[in-house]
Amino acid sequence: MNSTPDAIPDLLDKVTNLAKRRGFIFPSAEIYGGFRSTYDYGPLGVNMLRNVKQAWWRSMVQTRSDIVGIDAAILGPPAIWAASGHLETFTDPLVDCKRCKERWREDKIDGVCPNCGSTEFTEARAFNLMFETQAGPVEGEGATAYLRPETAQGIFTNFANVLATVRKKPPFGIAQVGKSFRNEITPQNFVFRTREFEQMEMEYFVPPADADEWYRYWIDTRLAWYVDLGIPAEQLRLHEHLPEDLSHYSRGTTDVEFAFPWGFDELEGVANRGDYDLTQHAKASGVALDYFDPTTNERYTPFVIEPAAGATRAMMAFLLAAYHEDLVEGESRTVLRLDWRLAPYQVAVLPLSKKPELEDVSREVLGILQPHFMCDYDVTQSIGRRYRRQDEVGTPYCVTVDFDSLEDRAVTVRDRDTTDQVRVPIDGLLASLRERTGQS
Ligand code: ATP
Repeated sequence: MNSTPDAIPDLLDKVTNLAKRRGFIFPSAEIYGGFRSTYDYGPLGVNMLRNVKQAWWRSMVQTRSDIVGIDAAILGPPAIWAASGHLETFTDPLVDCKRCKERWREDKIDGVCPNCGSTEFTEARAFNLMFETQAGPVEGEGATAYLRPETAQGIFTNFANVLATVRKKPPFGIAQVGKSFRNEITPQNFVFRTREFEQMEMEYFVPPADADEWYRYWIDTRLAWYVDLGIPAEQLRLHEHLPEDLSHYSRGTTDVEFAFPWGFDELEGVANRGDYDLTQHAKASGVALDYFDPTTNERYTPFVIEPAAGATRAMMAFLLAAYHEDLVEGESRTVLRLDWRLAPYQVAVLPLSKKPELEDVSREVLGILQPHFMCDYDVTQSIGRRYRRQDEVGTPYCVTVDFDSLEDRAVTVRDRDTTDQVRVPIDGLLASLRERTGQS
């Protein structure tokens, strides 16, 4: 793996600490000593994660007429996972270190135990990553069910439902955002690899002859999405899998990789799944999952191009890429240069002091902005300290209400990145912020 360009020392620790300290991401069940590798999203994190998913939904569904959404169940019967191949092949090679007894995923450790340095391991065993549970009221007598390890299968099992209810024909797509669960052998690196995580997946159904063209299209489109939302292009790269490394369903896979602090690693996979999934589910269920084209009188099983991204992993990448330390008037500050669409708060309204006469105008300003922007409101500490606190969580604009505001009905707008401040009339504030964020 290559190293990160212009790496900030201890970046992963700094971002992990900031995330906890400022309410983005907390270790789960902390008051009970934690539950390894599970995380809770705090007040700022939940805003940001929603923004990541919203930005994806906007680009994949809202602004296109060829893709619709779905929200399928997380619990599913074994039949789905037998047909998809997950029961048999969704496994990782598990090895035990013979010296320290730690368990590892063989393909991630290069033959050396990361814990004790030993090179002696047990034979690799195939370990299925799906979480199995029982559905039903009587213990031991319920039906076996699985938590989905990917959102994709809920899309394939609804292919016929969607075709019958919306008037789409290939090329068209079905998108889904939601939780997935994998019993990862070695969850690690903060929220990069966890057992419970969120995915953003889209299955794009195309005539088989056009599959390669659409595969290339989705690789380019998905790469551009990360750049548009602020990840520098040099921190991203594409990695095409060799034919011998492809998953059982894939005719081609290219990963979008990000320069994580430990090197380039996967953010998203774009795969040409061929007709594998629809054919498998049609065979196993007895329900036809194909498309009849009335213009050519042809019936065929579409090929599927799948861009599969992690929402939680993407959020981590956006945080890492946004983290900067710089000097403002000789003072060092931490600043998250997040795109305004991703920032937990887009505007902070800051009355200069706690004096009650400023409160009315400040609340009025908040009332104007809140329907349009996610706003923070903060009255404690000096204004300089409050600017630093907003910089640290990536708030693009601070709006300060001072005593002059009572006379001139204007406020100061401060820009996070340049720290420039301009005076703006309250009447024109919303229009000014909309213009700054490219919305008018
Ligand atoms: P890996 O080989 O790293 O285990 P994968 O190639 O199996 O991952 P996919 O099945 O392609 O991953 O999943 C699509 C996306 O879902 C990944 O690119 C990643 O962003 C996200 N993802 C997968 N597993 C996890 C996890 N355990 N924690 C967080 N995100 C995940």
